[in-house]
Amino acid sequence: MLFAHDTEVALAAATALVNTAADGEERLPDPAALSTFLDTWEYTGSRTGDEAELAEVHQLRTVLAGVWDTDEDGVVAVVNRLLREGHALPQLVRHDNWGYHVHATEPTASVADRMGVEAAMALADVVRAGALDRLRRCAAHGCDDALVDLTRNASRRFCDSSCANREHVAAYRARRAAG
Ligand SMILES: [Zn+2]
Ligand SMILES: [Zn+2]
Repeated sequence: MLFAHDTEVALAAATALVNTAADGEERLPDPAALSTFLDTWEYTGSRTGDEAELAEVHQLRTVLAGVWDTDEDGVVAVVNRLLREGHALPQLVRHDNWGYHVHATEPTASVADRMGVEAAMALADVVRAGALDRLRRCAAHGCDDALVDLTRNASRRFCDSSCANREHVAAYRARRAAG
């Protein structure tokens, strides 16, 4: 494990959020889709379930997507802004099946603030570890999705198994054609 469990989950969740707008397709088109996303990633705390909440999350998504396309100073600027604007106050908490982990916002903070601060705390770990090269774009042809490589040997190149399979099949065919 490269990072603490809550950091790795938060990085995966941030990546998934960024990819809900990948290749020009809106995968969070309405509050119901956001609700499903929040359930999938086990976000706790209050929700309004309205369009304003969704709009804030869309805004946050754009900010987070920028993290994959900037340098260290750019990432730091985003992290510090999200922590500041989200009024982050890190506290260790324990709930449900989770052992102690950090919550840096109140359960009553807005969904976007909670998601943003959680992502920022995780990204702060990545910056401190000098591991920003773990944030990459998928290497498959025709896919530009964000990915976070949490493998021990930094070997992950594709956003998901379908991209990996597609590229492996293409590489196999190319080898056969060459032979
Ligand atoms: Zn929690
Ligand atoms: Zn991909």
